Order: sequence, then structure tokens, then C-alpha cells
Amino acid sequence: MKHPKPKVVVSKCLGFKKCRYNGQTIPSHFVELLQDYVDYITVCPEEDIGLGTPRDPLRIGKRNEKLHMVQPATGDEVTEKMQKFTDDFLKKLDDVDGFIMKNRSPSCGINDVKIYHHLDEPTGSYRGKGFFGGQLKDYYPEAAIEDEGRLNNFKIREHFLTKLYSNARFRKINKKQQMKDLVKFHSQHKYLFLAYNEVAMREAGKIVANHEHKSEEEVFRSYKEKLQEILHKPPIYTANINMIQHAYGGISDKLSSREKKFFLRSIEEYRDERIPLSVLIQLLKSYAIRFDNEYLKNQIFLEPYPPDLMEITDSGKGRNY
Ligand code: SF4
Repeated sequence: MKHPKPKVVVSKCLGFKKCRYNGQTIPSHFVELLQDYVDYITVCPEEDIGLGTPRDPLRIGKRNEKLHMVQPATGDEVTEKMQKFTDDFLKKLDDVDGFIMKNRSPSCGINDVKIYHHLDEPTGSYRGKGFFGGQLKDYYPEAAIEDEGRLNNFKIREHFLTKLYSNARFRKINKKQQMKDLVKFHSQHKYLFLAYNEVAMREAGKIVANHEHKSEEEVFRSYKEKLQEILHKPPIYTANINMIQHAYGGISDKLSSREKKFFLRSIEEYRDERIPLSVLIQLLKSYAIRFDNEYLKNQIFLEPYPPDLMEITDSGKGRNY
């Protein structure tokens, strides 16, 4: 299967430059792994607003009910500078498929940043949005957005990559806006979307059928919104089973009774968390090749992203998202 190269904005300190406040970098294995498979756009909001490296760390806290960003060591405030940089940078980005941000950073953190209840009396705090990372969803609601810490979890990583590559495939056909491309896109993603969100997948099918004879521009706009709904959160395991059963239904009549028994038993093993979903997918892939089933062979769920990016390491937080 041929995969596009998604555009990904990434925090520069994740292995690209020693730009952290203390002059260090934090290499990320996942960011490195993706290097040859995506087009990276690096960003370091703190350097980009003119703070040097090394620099005094920043802090976010409330003063007069408003959030401020300051360097407590000097008392310098950078709230407006950071907001202006964020607006300018995110507005002028061309289409982008995803973001990988440094976690816990007051600038790049997405939603796990320490925010002080009172900027001037830093006693109590809560977790909230970073000044730059916390605004990504407002500008790019359809993008795959994660921090490098959460990407250590297999389930989160798998969802991130699936969404990232689906976005990139859609971005490609959205440029020309030809209906035949959209029909093919929807058909090839059918089983993947069935697992993600069956109701939204069927509504997307109606958008593609276009019985109201809307313009290509309108159809693609509506489909893009629906795609965002479909890929909003990863499938639960029962939805995966439903999808596997549908795909199996397309080739089961060609299998021997022993093969059928084996496949159905494997589904039960997946249900009981004794084997991963990838075992069932590989079995279906082997049947698609063996029976030369074009429809099944072209289904994206068999390979939603480049296989070299598949790593089964996990932070141990289980299969729930
Ligand atoms: S977390 Fe963001 S702002 Fe901080 S050093 Fe890394 S890239 Fe720069």
C-alpha cells in the first residue's frame, strides 16, 4: 500500500535542537521513528518570541482572573508576545495533518500544564492548557494532536497514526476535489470507519452519494466535517469485532470449516484480551492475498499507516483510550 507523507508540526526540543530553558534537548524515539515518513515543521515558541537559551523558566498563573505567562525570576511578562506568536504561526500554517508537542511545557503543553491559581502567590495549582499547545485544537480541530508523553501508550499511538494518515490521504484528494477520488477514499476506508463510528460512517456515505446534487466544494466540506466526527476517538474493542466480522463475511465462504473455526476462535481470544487486534488483521490480510480479493486488499484498516511505524511497546495503561 502506498502511503502519503503527512505534515506534522513538532516541538523543536524533541531531538531537533538544544532549545529547552536549560539548554538541553529531549530526544523522542517516536519522533525519530517518524522522521522518514512525515514532513516535519519544527517550532519553539519560547525561542521564537526572542527568549534566549538558556533562559529563566516560564510560569502560567492567574492575576485579576486572567491567565498570564511570566518569568518569575525576573518578573518579565510575555503573555502578549506569546499570544501574538501563536496566532501568527497557526494562521499562516498551510494545511497540516498533525502536531506532536512536548508535554507539561507552559508553551507547548496541550492540557497537562501546571497553572497557578495565583500568579504572585504560587501555592495552589491545577492542570490546564499551554499557551501555544492549548490552542491547536481551536485552529485545527481535525488534526491529530498529541503530546510525546501520551504517545508511549500503544492505543493512543495507534489512533494518532491512523488519524494522521487518514487526514493526509484526505488532504491529498481535497486539493483537486474530484468526486471519483472521494468515492474511492470512502470505499477504501469503509471498514476502518465502520469500527471508528458506524453511524457517522453511514452519514459520510450519504454525503458521497450526493443525492441533493451539491457542488464538489460543498460535498468535500461536509465530508471533511464528518471525517472529523468519525476519527474523533478510537474504536472500542466491540466495534473492532463488529468490523472484523463484516470483513470476514466477505471471504468466509471460501474458507474450510477448520479455517472458519480457527478464525472465529481467534475473534473470541481477542474479545478475552488474549491476542491483539493485529493478529486478526494479519489473518484477514493473508486471506485477501490468497483469494486475490481486490476489495479487501484495498481496505485501509489492513494497513492504516506504514508498517515500519508499528511498534507494540506500551506504557502499560491497557487497551482503553
Ligand atoms: S517545550 Fe516548546 S517552547 Fe519549550 S523548549 Fe520545547 S519547543 Fe521550545
